[in-house]
Amino acid sequence: MREETYRACGISHEVFSRGEEALSALAGRFEEIDRIAETNQLKVLQAMQKNRVAADLLNGTTGYGYNDAGRDTLEKVYADTFHTEDALVRPQITCGTHALSIALAASLHPGDEILSPVGRPYDTLEEVIGIRPSVGSLAEYGITYAEVGLLPDGGFDYEGIRNAINERTRLIEIQRSKGYSSRETFSPEQIGELIRFIRGIKPDVTVMVDNCYGEFTRETEPSDHGADLTVGSLIKNPGGGLAPCGGYIAGRADLVERCAKRLTAPGLGKEVGASLGVNRSFYQGFFLAPVVTAAAVKGALFAAKLYEGLGFPTWPSSDKTRYDIIQAIDLGSPEYMKAFCAGIQAAAPVDSFVRPVPSDMPGYADQVIMAAGAFVQGSSIELSADGPLRSPYRIYFQGGLTWYHAKYGILMSLQKLVDAGLAL
Ligand SMILES: *Cc1c(COP(=O)(O)O)cnc(C)c1O
Repeated sequence: MREETYRACGISHEVFSRGEEALSALAGRFEEIDRIAETNQLKVLQAMQKNRVAADLLNGTTGYGYNDAGRDTLEKVYADTFHTEDALVRPQITCGTHALSIALAASLHPGDEILSPVGRPYDTLEEVIGIRPSVGSLAEYGITYAEVGLLPDGGFDYEGIRNAINERTRLIEIQRSKGYSSRETFSPEQIGELIRFIRGIKPDVTVMVDNCYGEFTRETEPSDHGADLTVGSLIKNPGGGLAPCGGYIAGRADLVERCAKRLTAPGLGKEVGASLGVNRSFYQGFFLAPVVTAAAVKGALFAAKLYEGLGFPTWPSSDKTRYDIIQAIDLGSPEYMKAFCAGIQAAAPVDSFVRPVPSDMPGYADQVIMAAGAFVQGSSIELSADGPLRSPYRIYFQGGLTWYHAKYGILMSLQKLVDAGLAL
């Protein structure tokens, strides 16, 4: 019955069998993912109960948004879940890049220096910081940037970091997820170790962690390991697929206050910002986020196992512990990327009839191909695949609001490769 349904949905016997084979090796791993989701589910519930989330808080405000108790309570729920003093969780934060840009601008003054001790940050931050010259960048305001790459074995270059820290170093930016790079994603514990080392050299430096794609993949967050600011997007993990937009910044109260004043205006801060109609989706999405994230992690693991079996290099490989929801696969040529993305797209609940093509994207240096048949535009907690068209033609695969959809999408990606004569 199940296989017949897959057949009716375009998956051949051969591809289905490959999937079952890959899956049979992952049972123990899936149990671990479920246990993590269970812990995180309780963490979120506890934060909601502690803050007495009530039905009337699910409604929103308009205009200035004064006295928006739903918005203010949600921020307490985030702060309690992340174990931070405060949080800023707003629909006015347009995306992850914007949240990070706010956190950077709010924490830095002219003459200060940012240090990334983990190599080059995410592509879109290059223009925020001014690594690639851009109008309005931090570089225009006299803020400089320094970077220390990872060692060849992927470890932190402690000696290099020690040498790079100087009297102007004001903020350390640590990106948890690999993004569009070939390094590994860091665990919250590894980030904690790095933070302790840096604080041993410069105790008062501000540490900001780009937590995009990492939320709820483990039982702790970077904020549990010494980060001053933990930042991410609500159309990734913590929005649970229901948040229609938004970003969050969780951390030290004085820093979050500065971020609020950067987002709105000095003197206004957190007091303004109408939540309009999004409070309910923000709450409900955060409530579902642990389980949705678990579905995405299962999908990533399954993709790794399946494609390894076909001989493709995978990052991380299927034997590795997961610290984010991203699965990278080296497909080796643009044709493979296009076929893979065609499969993800064809498996989508929305826009399944569309064929993805490479194009220029604001903030990205290379052409990018993206597959997403999402309920929320660009949402990458929903099943999606994307990657810059440059060697080694690495596709980054993520999301899946349900495990079964993730599985189907991955099988369909393989089906499209088979149909194009590129695999099996
Ligand atoms: C997605 C992402 C960002 C930027 O988020 P957008 O919402 O696309 O602006 C930043 N850093 C990392 C690691 C990301 O994955």
